[in-house]
Amino acid sequence: MRLAIISDIHGNIEALQQVLIRIRNEGVDSIACLGDIVGYGPFPNECIDLVRTECSTIIGGNHDAGAVGTVSSGEFNKEGKIAIEWTRTQLTPENRQWLMDLFVSTSVGEVTLVHASPEEPEKWHYVSTWQLYERSFKHFETRFCCIGHTHIPAIVSPDRSIRGYVKGQRHIINCGSVGQPRDGDPRASFALLDTDEDSASIIRVPYDIAKTADAIRAAGLPEFLAKRLSFGI
Ligand code: ZN
Repeated sequence: MRLAIISDIHGNIEALQQVLIRIRNEGVDSIACLGDIVGYGPFPNECIDLVRTECSTIIGGNHDAGAVGTVSSGEFNKEGKIAIEWTRTQLTPENRQWLMDLFVSTSVGEVTLVHASPEEPEKWHYVSTWQLYERSFKHFETRFCCIGHTHIPAIVSPDRSIRGYVKGQRHIINCGSVGQPRDGDPRASFALLDTDEDSASIIRVPYDIAKTADAIRAAGLPEFLAKRLSFGI
């Protein structure tokens, strides 16, 4: 199975469109979306519509839960809270219901899919250090686990001494963020996993950052949310 994994789109339709074009060119069997389709960005409904059309497996993230009120807006930082409350006013009734019905984890063949952490998916832990990756390996049964949430891409095997993909090993793959990367590289991020070839990679895709930043300003969302996109923070 050749699987594309996308996550943390955050209402950034420009980035999502460019990533989907690239995925089409790569040729995959299916696309999985790990959630946070909305929040921070100016196009929540457009992103939901496109994800629903293009992705065969979709789970929800903490911002999706925030946008429908199952997570309190007080759980987010200042700008995140403003954006969540704005997103609540934008969602169509159909998209709101659709977000409410999303699960927080699932599996496809040899791949566990979760937004935050396989340990307690509904608690939205950040897997952000080697120790937390190591601990996470104990909390899924499959060969692979794909995660998002931190917006920092990574391909991690249980062997600490080796960086990147190791054939024959189990892996946790953080696909990074489509719509708000935070690793200092502002290009959209997604992952490709080929379970037959036993390979995985992180792919970066440029998109029109200025256009999304202008739309964030036009929506009246905080300036920081526009600015951070060009720095990848
Ligand atoms: Zn996110």
